Amino acid sequence: MALREVSQKRVLPLLAQFTRGLSASALPEQVSLDANAPNSQPAPFSYVPPGRNHLFVPGPVNIHERVLRAMHVPGQNHRDPWFAEFYKECLEDTKHMYGTKAATPFIFPGTGTGGWEAALCNTLSPGDKVICFRYGLFSHLWIDMMQRLGLDVTVVDRPWGEGADEGALEELLRKDTGKKIKAVCVVHNETTTGVTSDIAGCRKAMDAAGHPALLLVDGVSSIGALEFKMDEWRVDVAVTGSQKALSLPTGLAFVAASPKALEAMKSAKLKRVYYDFADMLRTNPSGNVPYTPCLSLLYGLRESIKMWKEEGGMGAVAARHHRLAEGVRQAVDGWGLKLLCKNPRWRSDSLTVVEVPEGVDSNKIVKNAYAKYDLSLGIGLAGINGKVFRIGHLGNMNELMLAGALVGAEMAMIDSGINIKPGSGVARAAEYWHKTSSVIKTRESLLK
Ligand code: PLP
Repeated sequence: MALREVSQKRVLPLLAQFTRGLSASALPEQVSLDANAPNSQPAPFSYVPPGRNHLFVPGPVNIHERVLRAMHVPGQNHRDPWFAEFYKECLEDTKHMYGTKAATPFIFPGTGTGGWEAALCNTLSPGDKVICFRYGLFSHLWIDMMQRLGLDVTVVDRPWGEGADEGALEELLRKDTGKKIKAVCVVHNETTTGVTSDIAGCRKAMDAAGHPALLLVDGVSSIGALEFKMDEWRVDVAVTGSQKALSLPTGLAFVAASPKALEAMKSAKLKRVYYDFADMLRTNPSGNVPYTPCLSLLYGLRESIKMWKEEGGMGAVAARHHRLAEGVRQAVDGWGLKLLCKNPRWRSDSLTVVEVPEGVDSNKIVKNAYAKYDLSLGIGLAGINGKVFRIGHLGNMNELMLAGALVGAEMAMIDSGINIKPGSGVARAAEYWHKTSSVIKTRESLLK
């Protein structure tokens, strides 16, 4: 058998997995993997259109050129002497985004899901009672993990589009006179619905009930974009992932643990190996790691946090996200559409979830946006698939990038049969951004 035939036999089935609805046998015999062969056809999606892809999903997000350049490093040995100081700085740097001085930060190779596991396994034991609100796919998946780990979860279901109910939390905790509940778990920003819960309010409810449970918070789509005050809110474990507000590639799970969480770790009996805080605690203080670190991502992290500090830190970054989000909310109003999150108190500044009119399939909008305008929008997840689409605006983002997404969304909605006047949304956003704009801080002298 000729070599090319063999490789086709092996590769075509694999290729078929990535081609929508085409089985290997449906691929024409003559499709060649050799680009120079006379019958060659481009593989699906191998054509890259001019200009940029407009990435507006709520993670992964746009990576700044400075960060891309910082990650462009040759292979290096993390056991060489330079690494220890570098790694200690990386860890120290992450404390800013959590708003903590007291907590111990960890960086695991992994994603937000790994961070969830680290938070639970290092602080809890099989059969422990925990409370978790469910108001979207991510809170659901975290609960699923808790159950699979053998925790006894009281699930507090909330309507999708609303956040954690502090009153219900206080009541549940007050009833727990034996203080059997070991942890309250809250997804700060539910990326399914565009809802930000009030972690300070949850802490207040826990205090009002005089309950000692740990407060574990998923900050995957909030930390680094929205105000997060780990020390002030007395969050015990906070989790995020690199592909969200930090605007890095996927691959790092960031976790921070309070002194109380580290104390709980000493008696926590859930099994843990890869995500064991103890292995990190043995090695991190001297700048070492228990296994091979993702070096280029760490270089990216340092640059990303540097940019975050240059912008003015948490207050400035959160204010930018608020302005961007408010512009998008104005646009949605201009389109005559509604947000999934009706109550302004819970509206997220890191993404916006837009309801589409009855009878319109929102998946069509997302498909049109990608197929016609090279715009990636977020689909509606799980139970709200087809009913909403999501515009991510966290991380490395500014008004004019977002204006592009709004124009693209308008055109894709019109393509999908929604009666929208071109420009009706983006004009409202522009009006708002123009009114609230200020000069880029290092360019003020240009306008004097
Ligand atoms: N939690 C939230 C709020 C998320 O948005 C996501 C992912 O989008 C996750 C957890 C899971 O994170 P990952 O996909 O990085 O494992």
